[in-house]
Amino acid sequence: MKAEVLMHNRHGENMDPNGEPRKAELPWQGCEWLKVEGKCRKCNAEPLRVKGDKRTQTEGPDALFAVAYCFDCNQPIGTLKVFRQTIFGEEEDERVLRGRPRVY
Ligand SMILES: [Zn+2]
Repeated sequence: MKAEVLMHNRHGENMDPNGEPRKAELPWQGCEWLKVEGKCRKCNAEPLRVKGDKRTQTEGPDALFAVAYCFDCNQPIGTLKVFRQTIFGEEEDERVLRGRPRVY
């Protein structure tokens, strides 16, 4: 799974000093939140744990977007972007695209 969080306020103004989306990782399969580097700017929780809101989900051509909430303080902190699953899974795609022969 590939995901990132763009930190912004409700007016869409970027709130991240870096200005770059932050990488979001699923710590384990089935986990309810994504781990994002840095702190929550509202409650200072570290690491920042983020969950998306299904009700706000919208679809783009290559990804899904949803309002990102801090798992700890429940405040909206930006937008969660989840890239669509690749055809065979990331590792498989990589292998396929590079044409490395498979060994059985
Ligand atoms: Zn928080």
